[in-house]
Amino acid sequence: MTDISIVVPVYNEDESLPELEAWVKKVMDEHKYSYEILLIDDGSTDKSWKVIEELGNKNSRVKGIKFRRNYGKSAALNIGFQHAEGNVVITMDADLQDSPDEVPGLYKMIMEEGFDLVSGWKKKRYDPITKTIPTKLFNWVTTKMSGIYLHDFNCGLKAYKLEVVKNIEVYGEMHRYIPVIAKWAGFKNIGEKVVIHQARKYGTTKFGIERFINGFLDLLSIFFVGKFGKRPMHFFGVLGTLSFLIGFFSTLYIIGEKLYYAWVIHLDSRDITDKPSFYLALTTVIIGVQMFLAGFIGELVTRNATERNSYNISKKINYND
Ligand code: UDP
Ligand code: MG
Repeated sequence: MTDISIVVPVYNEDESLPELEAWVKKVMDEHKYSYEILLIDDGSTDKSWKVIEELGNKNSRVKGIKFRRNYGKSAALNIGFQHAEGNVVITMDADLQDSPDEVPGLYKMIMEEGFDLVSGWKKKRYDPITKTIPTKLFNWVTTKMSGIYLHDFNCGLKAYKLEVVKNIEVYGEMHRYIPVIAKWAGFKNIGEKVVIHQARKYGTTKFGIERFINGFLDLLSIFFVGKFGKRPMHFFGVLGTLSFLIGFFSTLYIIGEKLYYAWVIHLDSRDITDKPSFYLALTTVIIGVQMFLAGFIGELVTRNATERNSYNISKKINYND
């Protein structure tokens, strides 16, 4: 059995790879771990794949997978997770910003202290300020929404129990929220370790300003899918019904008031169609109906989803399978 799988997403990082491999190998040999390095080439257009092949020829513990095109960091991690075999799986960026010297510490936290997942915390960061300030806000919001107290959700350096990576799926740009995904999958023992961070030595960052917009939208969808993914009607149904009822009774009230003026006290009053409140009430009814329909359609979709009954089973007794 392999002790450690190092999973590294690689997108145009040919200059960094040889140094990374040598450094990882040095640390592993020093601590006598059995290991594998999974280099996932995410459709690089530089010489990354050639470098990976060379490293693989030199060191049989280096394994490579190449995507035909660029799918993104999450996709690369996901395929790495599927192929990993080590008791502890450690993800690390290819750009040498994360230090392989942290691996033994992370390994101990998983194997001896019983954590399911340990996230790195780049307490002292070597990144431009345009990145560090929005990141603070982003981590604060994610903590509030997920109830997971981490300082640095998006740290590339993380360690997992093998069981965790086999039970979660990362796609789109969800790599920023793996702790949240793990928690939803039932792995609650999430820890944090302060790690050394370095400025990027070669190449440039692969993520621009859109990381913040996409990141926030992804947080909303993770949160929503995690909470209501299997029962959309509980969200839309409640809001829809509420909105419909408010609108419906407001409309009744407005009509009733008009009739009361006209028939009972024989007074001229404004036409209903002259009242803004009437239009507001109508709109509320329509929104209510639409919400309800959205919930209903969502319910039909989940009913047809193949994973509607896929639950994460951790233990069984007296079963042979
Ligand atoms: N990466 C990837 N696919 C992409 C973008 C990035 O595999 O589409 C990899 C990249 O090669 C690096 C890691 O993800 O190993 C983190 O990327 P980067 O260093 O650019 O992010 P930053 O440190 O700026 O957050
Ligand atoms: Mg980086």
